[in-house]
Amino acid sequence: MSKAIRRTAVIGAGVMGSGIAAHFANAGLEVLLLDIVPPNLTDAEKKDTRPGGARNRFSAGGLEKAIKSRPAAFFHKSNARLVSVGNTEDDLEKLKDYDLVVEAVIERLDVKQALFAKLEKILPAHAIVASNTSGLRIHDMMTGRTEAFKKNFLVMHFFNPVRYMKLLELVAGPDTDPATVERIRRFGEDALGKGIVFGKDTPNFVGNRIGVHAMMAVIHQMLQDGLTPEDVDNITGVPLAHPKSASFRTGDLVGLDTFVHVAQNCFDSLTNDEDRAVFEVPAFIRTMVEKKFLGDKTKGGFYRKG
Ligand code: NAD
Repeated sequence: MSKAIRRTAVIGAGVMGSGIAAHFANAGLEVLLLDIVPPNLTDAEKKDTRPGGARNRFSAGGLEKAIKSRPAAFFHKSNARLVSVGNTEDDLEKLKDYDLVVEAVIERLDVKQALFAKLEKILPAHAIVASNTSGLRIHDMMTGRTEAFKKNFLVMHFFNPVRYMKLLELVAGPDTDPATVERIRRFGEDALGKGIVFGKDTPNFVGNRIGVHAMMAVIHQMLQDGLTPEDVDNITGVPLAHPKSASFRTGDLVGLDTFVHVAQNCFDSLTNDEDRAVFEVPAFIRTMVEKKFLGDKTKGGFYRKG
């Protein structure tokens, strides 16, 4: 009999991590939400370990955003009591008693690999580690990990906003134990209320490969035809029955930095694909990312925030 998933942790308290933590709390689960200690703290701030203190500013900020988010991430604001915050320098050891850790840190292979190396030394044998990566290969993320760790590792790819998007894509690696996949399938369906699809360990799996392809095709077409984001969204929104997820609105929701990582990953990986050119990121989007016009998580992106 496999152990029930009760104690959950989410690492990375950004757009996705905070939404995933909120949805776990919606399912009545205790969640520990961790992020890094912010860089450039003063000496006094470095000692401030209170839950809402300077060392936990990123994770506490993520929780705060989830509480205030529109559409609401929590079924009820009181569910936020199930989420405790911390940071990966002070609190990683706590995970020795946890059943499930979802990794939702930035989409950088080196950062994820370093985190998994640390988790391998701490987690109990039954704990599952699930990455919310948008499309990094399991094979690459698991470089250097033990067989035991790989057995309990899979991709659990949520869609944004987590509470509302029914789809949950699960991707197992060649070493993932089928019993691990089954535990997460049941957890995803029964506890989280998601509809599960199984992807393969291919570049950007299924959901993102299709989504980013569509978005990139629209961007290239827009450039060619001199359309504005509003022109495009007026067509891809209400008329196509996506009132809340028209093309460029979705780009702002996802975050342009994440979007560029996903498109670049497809471009780099699909070297033999005749449609590869569509994934080439236009220079103006790279400039927007450099200038921190990342979408809703900053001052705006394709649209001004507010
Ligand atoms: P984000 O930029 O909003 O948040 C990333 C968070 O990770 C930040 O709070 C950052 O401080 C933190 N972080 C960075 N390094 C860390 C480390 N070593 N330890 C702990 N925390 C660290 O990004 P996001 O949009 O939430 O994306 C997170 C993951 O989810 C990525 O892998 C992304 O590809 C994936 N994803 C994103 C979306 C989306 O719509 N944005 C959808 C599905 C999957």
